[in-house]
Amino acid sequence: MTRTDPGPINKVVILGGGTAGWMTAAALSHRLAGSRVLIELVESDEIGIVGVGEATLPHIRAFNTAMGINEQTLIDRTQATFKLGIQFVDWGRPGDAYIHPFGAYGERIEGIDFHQVWAARRAGGDPTPLDDYSYPVRAAEACRFQRPTSDAGSPLSTFSYAFQFDASLYAAFLRQVSCGRGVVRTEGKMVDHHVDAQTGLITALTLESGRRIEGDLFVDCSGFRGRLIAQALDADFEDWSHWLPCDSAFAVPCRTTAPVGPYTRATARQAGWQWRIPLQHRTGNGLVFSSAHLSDDAAQRILMTNLEGPALAEPRRLSFRTGRRRKLWDRNVVAIGLSGGFLEPLESTSIYLIQLGITTLLDLFPDQAGMADDAREYNTIMALEFDRIRDFLILHYVANQRDEPFWRDIREMAWPDSLSAKVEAFVSRGLLPDYDVGVFHPPSWLAVLIGQNIVPQGWDPRVDRLDPARLSARLAEMRDAVRRAVERTPDHMSFIRAVGRPTQGGA
Ligand code: FAD
Repeated sequence: MTRTDPGPINKVVILGGGTAGWMTAAALSHRLAGSRVLIELVESDEIGIVGVGEATLPHIRAFNTAMGINEQTLIDRTQATFKLGIQFVDWGRPGDAYIHPFGAYGERIEGIDFHQVWAARRAGGDPTPLDDYSYPVRAAEACRFQRPTSDAGSPLSTFSYAFQFDASLYAAFLRQVSCGRGVVRTEGKMVDHHVDAQTGLITALTLESGRRIEGDLFVDCSGFRGRLIAQALDADFEDWSHWLPCDSAFAVPCRTTAPVGPYTRATARQAGWQWRIPLQHRTGNGLVFSSAHLSDDAAQRILMTNLEGPALAEPRRLSFRTGRRRKLWDRNVVAIGLSGGFLEPLESTSIYLIQLGITTLLDLFPDQAGMADDAREYNTIMALEFDRIRDFLILHYVANQRDEPFWRDIREMAWPDSLSAKVEAFVSRGLLPDYDVGVFHPPSWLAVLIGQNIVPQGWDPRVDRLDPARLSARLAEMRDAVRRAVERTPDHMSFIRAVGRPTQGGA
C-alpha cells in the first residue's frame, strides 16, 4: 500500500515517552487490542521528560478505569494521595483563601439553583459562607477523605475526587502496562523525518542510529519542542502570553512536614504563584512566575524560603509559552501533550487535555481516506476546550485585588470578550457558564468567582417568593448534613493506609 492509496491505519508511531506518550500508548494498546494495528513508541533517554505534572482532575479516574487499571494498584505504584480540590491562598486579597472543590454546593430549592438562593440571602445580610454547603471543601480543610457514595440524599454523593501522584512513576507504570500489551518501545533520538511529496503526509522517522521507522499515523508527544507538529510541519502557534504572562517555573520536591491534606495548594506570590502537591513519600513544590517581573534568583529565593521541609533536590528551571497550536492534528500528525499547547498548571488541566486528546483521537480513529475530516473535527473539539480553560485560568488572575506591579499589570489588561461576557452575566443575574461538554462546570466557576470576591448583584426573582422561615430551616439542614458527614469521614492518610481498598479488578 502507498500513501496515495488510502486504507486502514496499520501502524501508529508515538514520538515521546513522557506522561503524554505513555498515556497514549496505554490507551491505544487497550482499545486496539486484537486489531492488526501495530504501535511503536520512540523515546530518548538523553532528552528526558519534563517530569512535573503531579496534580490531576477527576476525569483521570474514568481514563484509568477505561484502560483496565486498578485504582489501588495505581495509588501504590505512584505514591498517590487523593485530591478533593485546589486551595487558592492570597489570590483575591492577601489573607484570603478558598478551595475550588470537585463537587456541588447545596441543593436546588424548588427548582432554583442553590447559588441564586445563597446570593439573595447574602445580599439580605446572611453571613453564612458558601463553603458551609460544600462537603469536599470542609473535608479537605479537615484533611479527611473517603470515596463518594451513591446515596442521593447525602452530601457524600455530591463530590468527585482525583489524585496527586508522582509523574515519573505514573509514566513508568503506564510503560510497563503498555509494553505488556504489545507496544514496542524504541530508545533513540529522532533526527529526521520523511514526507511523501505527493500527499504531504509524514511517512517515516529516522533515528540517530540510522534506523528508519515507518508509520501511517504519528502521535507527537515530544513535549515543548513539538518535534513533528512544529519542527516538521510548522503548525502555527496561537500565543496567549498577553493574557497569561507567566513563562517560567522552578520545581523542587521537599520532605513532608505538614499534614497531608487531600488537596493541592496554589499560593499567590509577588509575580506568580507557588504550588504544593503532597504525595505519600514527599511533597512537590514549584514557583510559576513571569520572568519580566521577577529574576531567577528572586524566584528561587521565594520558592526555597517557602518550603515546608528540607529540599530533596536542587530546584529545576522550566520555561514555557502559553497557548496552543491552531491545528493540533495536521495531516497525519496528532500533537498530544506539551507539543500541542500549554496552559499553566493552575487548575491541573494538562493531563486532562492529554486525556481528552487521546479519547477524541480514539473516537475518531481514522482510516487514511477520512483523515482530513477527522482532523477538522478533532481540532474543533480541542480548540474549544483549550479556549474555555484559558478563560477560566485568566479569571483567577484578573479578579485580583493585590498591589504588586505584576498583579496590577494583569488586572489592567484587556480581558478576552468571552470571559467578560461570563463575568457580566454572573454579576448582573447570577448566571454561570453551563456547557454540555467541557471540564469546568457551574460549581467550578462559582467557587472561583466568589473566591475572588466577585459577587452577584442580581439573582433569580423566584427566590424572593420563597418563605423565609422555611428557607432558613432548609439551609440550616444542609449545613448540618455537611458538618456531620465531615465529622464521620476518616483522616486522609489513615484512609490511604488502611481502608482505601476498592474492589474492582484490572491491571
Ligand atoms: P515530556 O515530558 O517533555 O516528554 C517528551 C518526550 O519526548 C520525552 O520522552 C522525550 O525523550 C521525547 N522526545 C523529544 N524529542 C525527541 C526526539 N527528537 N527523539 C526521541 N524522543 C524525543 N500537568 C498537570 O496535569 N498537572 C500539574 O500539576 C502540572 N504541573 C506542571 C508544572 C509545570 C511547571 C509544567 C511546565 C507543566 C506541568 N504540567 C502539569 C504539565 C505536565 O507536566 C505535562 O502535561 C506532562 O508532563 C506531559 O508532558 P509530555 O509527555 O507532553 O512531554
